Amino acid sequence: MKIFQPKRVFFEEEALKYPLGEKILNHFQSQDVEIRTIGSHNRVTGIPGDKPQQSYREAKQTLVVGVKRSLKFDTCKPSADFEFSLSTGCPGGCEYCYLQTHLGRKPYIRVYVNVDEILEKVEDTINARLPETTTFEAASTSDPLAVEHLTGSLAKAITFFGTQPAGKLRVVTKFAFVEPLLHLDHKRRTKFRLSLNTEEIIRRFEHNTSSFEERIMAAGKLSKAGYPLGFIIAPLFAYPGYQEGYDHLFSKLAENLHPIPPDLSFELITHRFTQRAKNVILERFPGTGLDLDETKRRRKYGQYGLVKYFYNETDYSALKELLFNLIRTYFPQASIEYFT
Ligand code: SF4
Repeated sequence: MKIFQPKRVFFEEEALKYPLGEKILNHFQSQDVEIRTIGSHNRVTGIPGDKPQQSYREAKQTLVVGVKRSLKFDTCKPSADFEFSLSTGCPGGCEYCYLQTHLGRKPYIRVYVNVDEILEKVEDTINARLPETTTFEAASTSDPLAVEHLTGSLAKAITFFGTQPAGKLRVVTKFAFVEPLLHLDHKRRTKFRLSLNTEEIIRRFEHNTSSFEERIMAAGKLSKAGYPLGFIIAPLFAYPGYQEGYDHLFSKLAENLHPIPPDLSFELITHRFTQRAKNVILERFPGTGLDLDETKRRRKYGQYGLVKYFYNETDYSALKELLFNLIRTYFPQASIEYFT
């Protein structure tokens, strides 16, 4: 697993007025990296590539440093009450990534420098809902671990939530860069969920992310550091031999996770896609081995009347039964937060 090193870094002029913007600029100034200033992190030009494959590849090597202006938090069910972003986009190249259709033709990676303002807004939201506990998801538009070595923003957020008795943070990641987070005073108010899949799925479809072993090792370190821990097994695929694949995943997990965290949880999400996502995936990964055959799937209407293709009843039920059985066998004390 290689740490993210962009080919080019674009700075919003406004971002350079913040200490984090300056810190990132200093970091890259001595390196062989193209540096430019831009007007807005929402309108970025100058990323090479006309063809979808090339523009995707180049965008994934482009870092944009900006100021997050909209501080209105969206709801985030079923994972949390609200979501907030320290970054948007991710250097990973997962073929099925749900962000494929969200970030335009050039899905460059954005990091935000006004972390204090974002966390102030989080605090206001927590206070407005007292005495309820408010939970925030920090990974719904990005993988914050992938850029943490450049920003340190997740560490700041974890420490902040440690001071908020009525706030909780949830983070999902496919990256294993957890070392700088292990010593933080998190007060068990941040829950990490490592996103896992079978070794075959990770190898074939989750490019530029941490390997299966690296993620399991990271989970062990987070657990030892006292963080609440869970796993998101997603997307679940019913491919030939998937039963053995998922059984192997759980046996490896059980072998390596010592001690088993007391509050271990699983979130289980089956694969689904929209026609638009399929078109984008086929443009960016023309030879993809992903199963995107809508004739074998069940149509369901999602938000805004969008059709999503879910597994048919037989595959869906078989995946559900298998995963529930594996969790009962290997981690009988764990909770299953949802299967969808
Ligand atoms: Fe998308 Fe997550 Fe993969 Fe990044 S790591 S490409 S956010 S699925």
